[in-house]
Amino acid sequence: MNLLPFGKLPAHKARTLVPQTIDLGDWPQIAPLFDQLETRAAQCQSAADLERWLLDWSELTAALDEEAARRYIAMTCHTDNAEAEKAYLHFVENVEPQLKPRQFALERIYIRRRDDLHESQTSPATGKNKGTREARPSENRYFVFDRDVKNHVELFRPENVALETEDAKLCQQYQKLTGSLTVNFRGEEKTLVQMGRYLEEPDRALRQEAWELVAKRRLQEVDNFDEIFDRLIELRQRTARNAGFKNYRDYAFRRLGRFDYTPEDCTRFHDAVAREVMPAVRELQAARRRQLGLDKLHPGHLRPWDLAVDPQNRPPLKPFGQVGEMVSRTQKIFDRLDGELAGGFRQIQDLRLLDLDNRKGKAPGGYQQNLAEARVPFIFMNAVGQQRDVETILHEAGHAFHALAARNEDLHAYRNSPPIEFCEVASMSMELLGNEFIEEFYSAADANRARRVHLEGVIGVFPWIATVDEFQHWIYAHPGHSRADRAAAWLELMDRFGGDVDWRGYETARANLWHRQLHIFTHPFYYIEYGIAQLGALQVWANSKRDKAKTLNDYKKSLALGGSRPLPELFSAAGCKFQFDAATIKPLIQRARSELANL
Ligand SMILES: [Zn+2]
Repeated sequence: MNLLPFGKLPAHKARTLVPQTIDLGDWPQIAPLFDQLETRAAQCQSAADLERWLLDWSELTAALDEEAARRYIAMTCHTDNAEAEKAYLHFVENVEPQLKPRQFALERIYIRRRDDLHESQTSPATGKNKGTREARPSENRYFVFDRDVKNHVELFRPENVALETEDAKLCQQYQKLTGSLTVNFRGEEKTLVQMGRYLEEPDRALRQEAWELVAKRRLQEVDNFDEIFDRLIELRQRTARNAGFKNYRDYAFRRLGRFDYTPEDCTRFHDAVAREVMPAVRELQAARRRQLGLDKLHPGHLRPWDLAVDPQNRPPLKPFGQVGEMVSRTQKIFDRLDGELAGGFRQIQDLRLLDLDNRKGKAPGGYQQNLAEARVPFIFMNAVGQQRDVETILHEAGHAFHALAARNEDLHAYRNSPPIEFCEVASMSMELLGNEFIEEFYSAADANRARRVHLEGVIGVFPWIATVDEFQHWIYAHPGHSRADRAAAWLELMDRFGGDVDWRGYETARANLWHRQLHIFTHPFYYIEYGIAQLGALQVWANSKRDKAKTLNDYKKSLALGGSRPLPELFSAAGCKFQFDAATIKPLIQRARSELANL
């Protein structure tokens, strides 16, 4: 049985190192290729030799990456298939642990050889050509790659391996605890995710009941969440000290490869959100309050359970019935937007690189995954016919366009892992640009309603990003803080970024709201990326209102760069500034507000 929706995908480039018939799930067959690469690295005589070697290493990495991806896709498309699960776990348990130290050894060898060879000649390392002008370091093709590999090698501490395993285990405990929480709602056991649906119910009393039940259930676990988090902080501080950093924040910035922005830039972003976005958020909240008719009640404030429902109490939008309809209408959107992108989306369909409908035996959520050797994207989601599905397919298509655009890049690291701050520009821009033709799904009135929901979401996410990010800056800058200090710091941020929502009677729930944000536990400091990217996407969108053809051209060109350039250059290629201060945010929020006013 073929567990993958797509058929055989030929490699984009013929293999030169990896044998055609190799079983990439069998470590004894893989290990000799690493031996070979190690031996050959020592024999490189010139920078050109090292460059060829790099491409062979890249070929092997891509082949292994695709193998892992295929197993992951098969498993998530068939969670109830024992064979798929076994194949996936086999790779995770028997190949990956062997792979990591071997990849790391090659990274170390590469850095050493690069330094040896760069003395004498043109090198991937410096890009200096004898007799020509001194190139700026970032003009060098290998600037970003070298910087990342070097960073990885420099940060490695053998004594941190055990600490990271411990960290991963605690993160898993957090996820297990979160996933295990259920409530009994009107005689039925429901997960907290399932309960989210009731917050969209027009019946206010029902919403309140559902919200209170979830809040109460979470509060029973407050000590467990705090306990896990205390231990995580302690581990992370040790990890940072081992690597020679004075605090975890500075370590995390390096570890995440943030060479192009600083903690001070993040602070500027928080301040800019407070100044430029919060007035818009309060205005939207006031409008919601009026539309819900709360101003006629006493005391008539917005409460935490009033934030997700349609403010005019209309039934949910119905963009499509069958998933096939979703695909063909999305295709029409791209047909109207851009011929080349439209061709890409058609190609994805022709190769059956999609599994989109929600069905039993499928993992939740949505993702886009690169098949690194065939150099094509795969899109996974669980569409059920909601407006959110339309946003998701446009978003994931943006990621897929990124993968297709970078297809001709031979260095796997550049092709496959552009920085997340820019990957999300590719996807979030596509939501905004695609929305312009969303009438393919709706009547004119419903199309405007969908645009409104989307734009309000774009504005509303900034304060939450600022809250989550600033909170983490506070945490790791205050080692040894008590749980009470931590709650106080969080509440101060809720005051700053929460807007006009009345939490009276639910103060403890408010003080512990951060327990719901997975990233704070499992991906420390990894959240502001979405804010940075959203600002890029809003700039792309604003540019498109002025000159659509140029904007789309820049968009495609910037995507084709993959991860080969530093962030500011990727942004600039897309026609945006890599800045997140008030001066950048202000006109974008104004633009979004005036668009909302016209809907
Ligand atoms: Zn995304």
